[in-house]
Amino acid sequence: MKSYLLILSVLLFCFACKTQKNNHLQTPIESRKDFSPTKNPKNIILLIGDGMGMGQISAGTYRNNDKSNLERFEVTGIHKPRCYDKLITDSAAGATAFACGEKTYYHAVGVDKDTLPLQSILEEAELKNLATGLVATSTIVHATPASFIAHNKYRKNYEEIAADFLKTDIEYFVGGGNKYFERRDTDDRNLIEELKAKDYHMGNYLTDFVDFKKSIPTKGKVGFLTADDSPLPILSGRDYFIDASMTGINFLKKQSDDGFFIMIESSQIDWGGHSNDAEYIISEFLEFNKLIGKILDWAEKDGETLVVLTADHETGGFTIQSESTIDSLVTVFTSGNHTGDFIPVFANGPKSELFTGLYENTEIYHKMRKAFGWK
Ligand code: MG
Ligand code: ZN
Repeated sequence: MKSYLLILSVLLFCFACKTQKNNHLQTPIESRKDFSPTKNPKNIILLIGDGMGMGQISAGTYRNNDKSNLERFEVTGIHKPRCYDKLITDSAAGATAFACGEKTYYHAVGVDKDTLPLQSILEEAELKNLATGLVATSTIVHATPASFIAHNKYRKNYEEIAADFLKTDIEYFVGGGNKYFERRDTDDRNLIEELKAKDYHMGNYLTDFVDFKKSIPTKGKVGFLTADDSPLPILSGRDYFIDASMTGINFLKKQSDDGFFIMIESSQIDWGGHSNDAEYIISEFLEFNKLIGKILDWAEKDGETLVVLTADHETGGFTIQSESTIDSLVTVFTSGNHTGDFIPVFANGPKSELFTGLYENTEIYHKMRKAFGWK
């Protein structure tokens, strides 16, 4: 039996070599479907579930009748989340690894270990004439989205981070944190007025997103601040995330013939982990899961979009206990902070094969650049 399997795998390997020669495949993956693997994607959608480890994914999936849209991804990988100066990363160093490709220190936003600014993939996309976007369920100046557009030695310098939104012509951003733009403690600037002067179409939480989106121009730049400070948890009534993400993707698609890059973060899975609240985690995951389904539908139809989903780290040491049944999960937390677990990566679409394997978190950046075909 063993030798039969060996022969079969040798045969499969030879078949794979042949396919590779004929189609110039880098990594042949049999389950991949109907896109041309030799083509680079025009667009990349990077999805981050902050604090979303395997426990969070498993519990959310069990709660959802043992199904999730993560099962639709054709390629999976694993990344190693540690940062430059600590084994256990924070979200700033974690997002900087994805955004800029370097391991940096705890609390660093878009800067290297010596606090020097690093160009992010979003900034490089802007320079290459792609349209860019950020959507989050935290404030838009929070560590994860901030690391794609700002450069700061300390993640909590929120007003400085907000001012960095004036330095890149990002086409679309939606998240909380209106006060860091409009009512600042450190200076008298009104960044909302400054953004409007740069031709941004701006809105905030005083308008429902469903009404605001009717006013979005076909072409241009759009910012919407969904709360004065942090947006609510979904269980307390936050309702913009799916709509703002899909509106953003459709908007960005129309902005440039060269494609787009967008990072969309389900930020509060992490906050559920910090508060050791299983229902908080699961409810945030279930909303994210719905959005992931819509995005995969969109990307499959589009055919030119690579979708990458991962987390920066796990939060809470969240696990499912032996007394659990599918209808009644018994969960436990081993931490009120982040943990050092390796983190799953999911990819779909053109060049998704690059994301298979076990690698450092910084490779997410390098693989996305490679997928775009950037030198
Ligand atoms: Mg975050
Ligand atoms: Zn956290």
